Amino acid sequence: MTLLSKSKYLIGLQCLRYFWVSLHEKDRIPEVDMATQHKFDQGHLVGQLAKQLFPEGIDIPEADFKQNLEKTKEFIKLKKPLFEPAFMVGNLYSRADILVPIKDEWDILEVKSGTKVKDINIHDVSFQKHVYELAGLKIRKCFLLHINNEFVKKGEINPKDILTKEDITKEVEAVTGIKDRITTMLSAMEDEICPDIKISKDCKDPYDCPLEDECWGFLPSASVFDLCRGGKKCFQLYEDGIIRISDIPHEYKLTDKQGIQHQCEKTGKVYVHKEGIKHFLSPLKGTLYYLDFETFRTAIPILDGTKPYQQIPFQWSLHVDNGKSVKHYEFLYDSQEDPREEFLKSLKKVLGSSGAIITYNQSFEIARLKEMASEYPEYKDWVESVVGRVVDLWLPFRNFHYYNPVQKGSSGLKKVLPAITGKDYSKLDIADGDTACLSYLNMIYGDNKGDKKVRKDLLKYCKLDTEAMVWIVEELKKLVK
Ligand code: SF4
Repeated sequence: MTLLSKSKYLIGLQCLRYFWVSLHEKDRIPEVDMATQHKFDQGHLVGQLAKQLFPEGIDIPEADFKQNLEKTKEFIKLKKPLFEPAFMVGNLYSRADILVPIKDEWDILEVKSGTKVKDINIHDVSFQKHVYELAGLKIRKCFLLHINNEFVKKGEINPKDILTKEDITKEVEAVTGIKDRITTMLSAMEDEICPDIKISKDCKDPYDCPLEDECWGFLPSASVFDLCRGGKKCFQLYEDGIIRISDIPHEYKLTDKQGIQHQCEKTGKVYVHKEGIKHFLSPLKGTLYYLDFETFRTAIPILDGTKPYQQIPFQWSLHVDNGKSVKHYEFLYDSQEDPREEFLKSLKKVLGSSGAIITYNQSFEIARLKEMASEYPEYKDWVESVVGRVVDLWLPFRNFHYYNPVQKGSSGLKKVLPAITGKDYSKLDIADGDTACLSYLNMIYGDNKGDKKVRKDLLKYCKLDTEAMVWIVEELKKLVK
């Protein structure tokens, strides 16, 4: 018998096509990527922490669902908090994170690694409550235990301090239509043919659907979904039968940037706004410093003095161009101690006291510098002087002073580099910030401790980020010569 579990119900809520594939043709679903796996792992760690709130709780960890059901039946009589008990009624199956007895009733506690209650959490708990009540349990209240983002780690973590317990009973009870949705899903479960569902904004809400490549793959290059900040407009155009940017009628209202995209797609030419680029380049005189940071963040903070999900800088790369030669400097912290003081100290030695510091999306580097200065006040004045020197290379691209159709509406560094120089990140084993963060966590704290290849790859990646900026500025200069 195929069961409608809580996780399948949530998939069905997002899309019946994804739901059907997850039941009938699982092989079509790609393996989870590193970032998603990390999210799951973080969720698991938070779940383990939540269990510590109930020292008398009984764990029912059986992976085999039948054993889990039997153990639940046995332990529920003890009237103690239960971790991961399972209930089955007909085709419906649900497993709670924590069930807590309150006299003759039970409270549902759902544990999440996020920092606030989301709609999907309410649906999640509403399905659980529905199944437990069908199974004969009296549910008193429903709670979400989530991360308290104001928590600051000082020594060993007390789960009471890092977890916030929010009463979501009212919100859960306000959910309507659950029976109808279950009926629809049970019937879709029996179907032999995959439901024909059109692409929509639901493909990314509440989660990125893993079937996106399959469902969205029919779109041509430069489709209306590549419009810069397209939002609802992309779907409006698509619904009107307009698939390519170049097919958008002249009279259709586009923003200035979308207008440039439209023009580039129609002509196949690169757009260059020379005055805008000249204006950007004019203050870039004397020695130039190209700077980039890499950071990691975790749901449960690792270091004392830090908060959940706080960005912790662990690596920088710097290219210094004095007009005659370009020199490279780098830093990558190798131990489990707090990297931030060494990070600042090493950077201060090479950043000079004047000259523009070029970053890509300056708000990220500036925010990290300011956070570190508040942790290490002796660097406050220096950080202020550094912040005053920062220039954002993102600006000419974000403002579309340069646009090449190969950017597909994006002004991100990874799209701009190949567009303007023909070079890219494809030869690197670590080629994006998320992978760098997770690889570092694994190399320092995880299963991959001390892996020299990862260390090399991290250095290569961060180095390319700053070298890319050097190349891009060179190309911008050529464009306005
Ligand atoms: S990509 Fe969109 S349409 Fe396709 S299965 Fe996922 S949610 Fe459904």
